[in-house]
Amino acid sequence: MPINLDHLGELERTHSCGELRAGDAGREVVLMGWVAVRRDFGPLTFVDLRDRDGLTQIVFDAEDAPDAHARAKEVRGEYVIAVRGRVEVRDSAAHNPKLPTGEIEVRALELLVLNEARTPPFQLDASPDKLAAEETRLKYRYLDLRRPYLQRNIRLRHLLVAEIRGYMNEQAFTEIETPILIKSTPEGARDYVVPSRLHHGKFYALPQSPQIFKQLCMIAGLDKYYQIARCFRDEDLRADRQPEFTQLDVEFSFATREQVYRLIEGLYVRVFRLVGAELPQPFPRLSYAEAMRRYGVDKPDLRFGMELQDLRAAVEGTTFAPFAAALEKRGEVKGLVVKGGAHLSRKQLDELQEVAKRYGAGALAWVKLGDELSSSLLKALGEEAVTRIASQAGAEKNDAVLVVAGKASVVAASLGALRNEVARREKLIKPNTFAPLWVTEFPMFEHNEDDGRYYAMHHPFTSPVDEDLVKFERAVEGGETHLFGEIRAKAYDTVVNGIEVAGGSIRIHRRDVQRLVFKALGLTEEKARERFGFFLDALEYGTPPHGGIAAGIERTLMALTGIENIRDLMAFPKTASAADLMIDAPGPIDNHQLDELYIRVVEE
Ligand code: ASP
Repeated sequence: MPINLDHLGELERTHSCGELRAGDAGREVVLMGWVAVRRDFGPLTFVDLRDRDGLTQIVFDAEDAPDAHARAKEVRGEYVIAVRGRVEVRDSAAHNPKLPTGEIEVRALELLVLNEARTPPFQLDASPDKLAAEETRLKYRYLDLRRPYLQRNIRLRHLLVAEIRGYMNEQAFTEIETPILIKSTPEGARDYVVPSRLHHGKFYALPQSPQIFKQLCMIAGLDKYYQIARCFRDEDLRADRQPEFTQLDVEFSFATREQVYRLIEGLYVRVFRLVGAELPQPFPRLSYAEAMRRYGVDKPDLRFGMELQDLRAAVEGTTFAPFAAALEKRGEVKGLVVKGGAHLSRKQLDELQEVAKRYGAGALAWVKLGDELSSSLLKALGEEAVTRIASQAGAEKNDAVLVVAGKASVVAASLGALRNEVARREKLIKPNTFAPLWVTEFPMFEHNEDDGRYYAMHHPFTSPVDEDLVKFERAVEGGETHLFGEIRAKAYDTVVNGIEVAGGSIRIHRRDVQRLVFKALGLTEEKARERFGFFLDALEYGTPPHGGIAAGIERTLMALTGIENIRDLMAFPKTASAADLMIDAPGPIDNHQLDELYIRVVEE
């Protein structure tokens, strides 16, 4: 039977549900929100009332307010109510230290039932391990968002963006919106495309980033640009990716790398204060080459040590086939020391081996310096060689050494992943620590073994370092293609706790250098004109040197909060297969719409 609902009328909220404290005792207040829980004890009924700020306990006492008490028996979870009542301090035995409002309760004088609610399809206050499946929660995202955890995240996101805007404005940057319906941009992912109704057979692309537009802003003399920009990338999705995401996009004229570093360090120092963290300034720096050599990845987590150790000297001349083959083919043998890792069980080592294999390693060898020496290599190499490996790695009593041999890229990737995995398992990371750094001097080009071509590691508008320009010209014009791998870019990433939170570069501002890069990437003059003709033209009208960076909002939130699920940091995320389960997108469109767009859908 539908219950009859009350009108809100002119009644106004006086406080939020997270606000009242013991000092408010005696005040008459009006709270409004959702019923989180109702508990009945005969003449007393308790309701935990929830809004975005918190929970307040409301007491309906049959003696004080018989009407309100009777009415309270009708409300269920997620009903929307308004309560007028008086603040009282709870008996000290009834204090709830888990709630900021836990010292008080509100004794109801009047209850308005503003709306009813169906029983939610999942329990909103379940403990994290008992939460309903994520698909269910995504389908009813508007309900999931009522959970305090998500409310906090969305609020922090807002504070982050507000802080960013404040900072960039203070630094005299201008917020400029760039278009969403554009032509393909060069970030290396697939484009989302939008068919044009007015231009038969033509398509817009959604921006993978505002890259070209922000450079055009520099050519336009706008000097200092930023934007909180939505970007769209149709990639094979990974757990930490979303098809649309937001970044702080920045570009300024006459930029040097040092200026970019200072600007972004200032920004990150400021936004990390939102979680009470004080970042060191300046951030430490590692060149890409050094990061790869010492950590195996270009976004090292510096909250712990455990650097990779080169074991070549310890195994040089070995006849053990996997090591010998690796060294012969200009590969590597490297390892890492797990402090106190002699306790690692066979099962744990097998699990770590699985991690290494996922990154292409053939096997994971290990040495344990327990009471006795034990090692997967003992039979093949003998005790002396195994001891040499352990001491070359710098291992001490009770440590373990994990060893991978093979192609340099595989050794780096698998040990880099193992390093993070071991840190997690061995709890090497102190909570609430933050380790920012710059990774600098990325290579300009990445060689793709599948098609034998070179690709821009950052994007094709990134400038080579000045010292490498001559070499670059020789590589492109002189055919000395082996030099491609040696050209360094004025590109940089900001990494915090192993998360690449920002990346950018000083750009090419000279037409001749841009031509060389396109040529290096295998773009013919014609192709380059077809795709970027407008931009190449623009470069010829007095382009200032310029550079910039983009900082991922979701990635930055991940670093700030330690939350690994990116979907927990955005209001309306999509699944790993780019679907919105709530609105059921993508969806079909009707034939009339298809006709207008000159599109026919062909059955597979
Ligand atoms: N456009 C780049 C990106 O979105 C960032 C930059 O180079 O500023 O990753």
